Amino acid sequence: MLIRALRLKPVTKEYIWGGSKLKTEWGKQADTPTVSESWELSDFPGSESVIDDEMYPGYTLGKLREKHPEFFGKKIESFKSFPMLIKLVDAGKDLSVQVHPNDEYAAEHENGSFGKTECWYVLDADPGAYILLGFKRAVTKEELTASVENGTVTDLMNRIPVKPGDFYFVPAGTVHALCKGVTVLEIQENSNVTYRLYDYGRTDKDGKPRKLHMKEAAEVADLNAFVPEAAPAPRDFTYGKIRKLASCEYFRTKEVVFDDMYIMYTFDTFASFTVAEGEGVILKEDGSADGKPADGVPFKKGDTFFVPCGAMVRLSAPHGKIIVTEL
Ligand code: ZN
Repeated sequence: MLIRALRLKPVTKEYIWGGSKLKTEWGKQADTPTVSESWELSDFPGSESVIDDEMYPGYTLGKLREKHPEFFGKKIESFKSFPMLIKLVDAGKDLSVQVHPNDEYAAEHENGSFGKTECWYVLDADPGAYILLGFKRAVTKEELTASVENGTVTDLMNRIPVKPGDFYFVPAGTVHALCKGVTVLEIQENSNVTYRLYDYGRTDKDGKPRKLHMKEAAEVADLNAFVPEAAPAPRDFTYGKIRKLASCEYFRTKEVVFDDMYIMYTFDTFASFTVAEGEGVILKEDGSADGKPADGVPFKKGDTFFVPCGAMVRLSAPHGKIIVTEL
């Protein structure tokens, strides 16, 4: 049994709406003054995160899978490519109002890409911060198109105030926007297909408006009223509290809050975790449970690790909160 979690080095992205919190609060490094996204667990072509661990230094997930398919478990074999993508996203400004297609539409219209169902775990939110998620009531295609043209589309949408710990599942087809002052951990299908409906009339650094994709957006948008599901209540377990957040074909996500110690097992699939609160060490093979923390691999808020299938990983910290995602 492998007793190890492998630290991941992310890929950062800057768009016109990024904030500074991923650098100042979440430990991300970038040459740009602001960072919109940090792709933490990514095997997306051209934007792969790599392993930052002496055992497999610089390996992409693809390379690791070539060498050690057993680290990934069996379930992944039914997917045409790596199924999930996990990002930190910091909205320094409002993101465009957008929608993503489902798998069928993306396969047909986007060169066989995955569609994009996503979910957001709110890590940080400025006072008064909110998200826009789905329509308040059912709308018609004509209404949607007209509201985009006259700049009132956000009036049709659910405007939801958010705070740290909130969780929202965003099925493909749900029109949405992350808004200014919200930082999330986004777990999504491994896809980058976004149809932008409305961008508040903004222009990019060259003074040009960003491209909108109204035709595609109208084709894939779910026009029904969207009722966000209430977040489930946490339950007690051996080390603290656990809360199931999402479960779909592409990922299963939970929040784990622990004191002192958390022992994580991966039985039939790989997993990944991102640290939302706390700092501590992952005890090494030779560290007994009562531990020599100095021998461990340190972790802190904002770090993401890959945990191979069939591993046992012991996290030691006075207090920790991690978001765990498995296939
Ligand atoms: Zn989105």
